[in-house]
Amino acid sequence: MPILNHHPTTPDSANGETVLPRANLVEMFSAIQGEGLNVGTRQIFIRFGGCDLRCQFCDSAHTWFANQICHIEQSPGLRDFSPQPNPVTIPQILDWLNRQDQVGLHDSISLTGGEPLLHATFLEQLLPRIRKQTLLPFYLETGGHHPQGLIKVLPYLDSVGMDLKLPSVSGEIHWDEHRHSLELCHQAQVEVFCKLIISEQTDWQDLKMAAQLVAAINPTLALFLQPVTPLNPRHPVQPPSPEKVLTWQAQLKQICQQVRVVPQTHKIMGQR
Ligand code: SF4
Repeated sequence: MPILNHHPTTPDSANGETVLPRANLVEMFSAIQGEGLNVGTRQIFIRFGGCDLRCQFCDSAHTWFANQICHIEQSPGLRDFSPQPNPVTIPQILDWLNRQDQVGLHDSISLTGGEPLLHATFLEQLLPRIRKQTLLPFYLETGGHHPQGLIKVLPYLDSVGMDLKLPSVSGEIHWDEHRHSLELCHQAQVEVFCKLIISEQTDWQDLKMAAQLVAAINPTLALFLQPVTPLNPRHPVQPPSPEKVLTWQAQLKQICQQVRVVPQTHKIMGQR
């Protein structure tokens, strides 16, 4: 299967015709955020298709590639999905968002994936259009490995949740990109928190490296340890023992002031 074209969204006026910016979505729906600083809040999720990482614990492999169809919830929280052809346009997203945006229901809009910053050029055009329609804050969920994409989108964002990839858990190494992305958020004074997925295989040196990286930019920044949710009992990536988690939190609190442990609450609730 081909990996998603990462820059499918730039407007074009070849042959005198304006091509509308488009992007591939996986789904749009209303749900309770189950991770990190916003846990328990109600969000409209706009999930973009395509991811250039291959984390060993990934529970969203269905987002890795461009699908022909995306799934759009018609009424907030009712899971009455309607299939729609990809790629989608900005006016379509504005219309679907308008249906979701009932007065007082949502706390924010989650831009998620896959890796939403693969669609930075599209987001740069989409977000100001959404802002004319609703004042709901924008929250970006990213792997923190596309600082150049982040630069485009950052002026429109209210908060960022960044998954720092621990090599011993994810199989990915992106320390320089993580550092650059965190510095950009710090300089722009956009609220940011970091999330570390931890498993039985987590290497303490990775945790220490991540915490030192965060503390060098802002020692008060909230760092979330998220025990991996096992995909199945035979999967090679399993959650760490409670004793290990207690030890790691204590050690990390010597480096960062705010270290919280929060599992994926939406999975516990059996929510999408
Ligand atoms: S960044 Fe997210 S979607 Fe991509 S492979 Fe990792 S966990 Fe999966």
